[in-house]
Amino acid sequence: MSIHNHPKKAKEFVSNDERMHWHDKALWFVREKRDKASKSIPEWEKLREYAQQIKTHTMANLDKYLLEFEENATKRGIKVHFAKDAKEHNEIVYNILKEHQVKKVVKSKSMLTEECHLNPFLEKKGIEVVDTDLGERIVQFRKEPPSHIVLPAIHLKKEDVAKTFHKELGTDENNSDPTYLTRAAREHLRGKFLEADAGITGVNFAIANTGGVVVCTNEGNADMGSSLPKLHIACMGIEKIIPRLQDLSIFTRLLARSATGQPITTYTSHYHGAIENGEMHIVIVDNNRANFLSSNKYKKALNCIRCGACMNTCPVYRRSGGHSYDYVIPGPIGSSLATFRDPKLHKTLSFACSLCGSCSNVCPVKIDLDSQLYNHRQDLYEKNIISTKKRVVMKLSVWVLNSPILFSILGKITRKIVPLIPKKIIYNRFNIWGKQRDIPNMPTKSFKELYKEGSIDVK
Ligand code: SF4
Repeated sequence: MSIHNHPKKAKEFVSNDERMHWHDKALWFVREKRDKASKSIPEWEKLREYAQQIKTHTMANLDKYLLEFEENATKRGIKVHFAKDAKEHNEIVYNILKEHQVKKVVKSKSMLTEECHLNPFLEKKGIEVVDTDLGERIVQFRKEPPSHIVLPAIHLKKEDVAKTFHKELGTDENNSDPTYLTRAAREHLRGKFLEADAGITGVNFAIANTGGVVVCTNEGNADMGSSLPKLHIACMGIEKIIPRLQDLSIFTRLLARSATGQPITTYTSHYHGAIENGEMHIVIVDNNRANFLSSNKYKKALNCIRCGACMNTCPVYRRSGGHSYDYVIPGPIGSSLATFRDPKLHKTLSFACSLCGSCSNVCPVKIDLDSQLYNHRQDLYEKNIISTKKRVVMKLSVWVLNSPILFSILGKITRKIVPLIPKKIIYNRFNIWGKQRDIPNMPTKSFKELYKEGSIDVK
């Protein structure tokens, strides 16, 4: 398998300057909405703290809560399955579908099924799978993966959608009016819901003391998919468990505000059993998650409630697009999850971070994302996974930064020499740093010198 290369993919995204700026603005708009929504409730920081504590406690007692959940769900007539990995998950889902002779499935948004590559697996077995979230349907038509976990088609403009719908649904190619396009999608999806033999949904929260699951959507597509067909399969990672029903309100208040700035997701649906004459299954998957629990540095990543706030605020994600991460979950949390899972394959991701800390600042469950990415860099260095060029630069930096005298001598030389060097020499092909950046004008004095002579007011 070839190593994923974030800088290369990001370069491709950035090459379309207009689209890059548009993407940046679109996500910043969502980030601002999140800020307003979070400030509208004075107890916001308390909620974050509670959420963090509940999640940390649950992860420390995950075996207990998973068993409690299984017992309570079973009492409600739900069939619970456990899968150790993606392959087992896909086989379990397929066997349930096969048993019911299912040919057509409607599926609401589930990052887990993306992670397990469920769609191509089922399609190979002759089962039609229709993603019913509007953004997901758009990217499914285009045979692309989602580029964001909450806004899967955020990389596309309405004109792109008009072209895609024209090709797939026969709409007017030149009409990119969102209402027109949404109506066409709704009509198309209604037909799919009515034809479907089964509905697959993700799970936002699984409640141990009730044995039920909660699914949040803004389009009501999970509700349609789980109430029209008689068979409902909900797929979840082991980390979706919360202990009690009363804990849910903390997460629902945080989730929608962090994700899109809404006070609550439009549809927050509770499933505590199958519909009349129906059947409900829950597939609980590990797929490498348990490994996180043994790592003090990275286990908090399991607390993620998939709100996407860290992506919306990340200056790198906003300017490089979700596909550049080459992982099912992009942005800061995706970088940490991917690097932990396969450091070699995703070795460039932890360097796609400015360490500004904005992600940790907005994260509703207080995951230390910037520290995790910083730690990954050290681990990659220790494991000798990063490139020789980077290793040498890091070694030299350590040497210089460890010696105040050397640092100050080199600073003095650089301030004197750089202004004298012709630009052509500075911006040579070996100076990768200078490709997208201008070297700032050199100050005549160092910070230390200015501080000593009292020219800097540190108050
Ligand atoms: S890491 Fe935090 S901010 Fe990012 S998606 Fe998960 S919960 Fe949201």
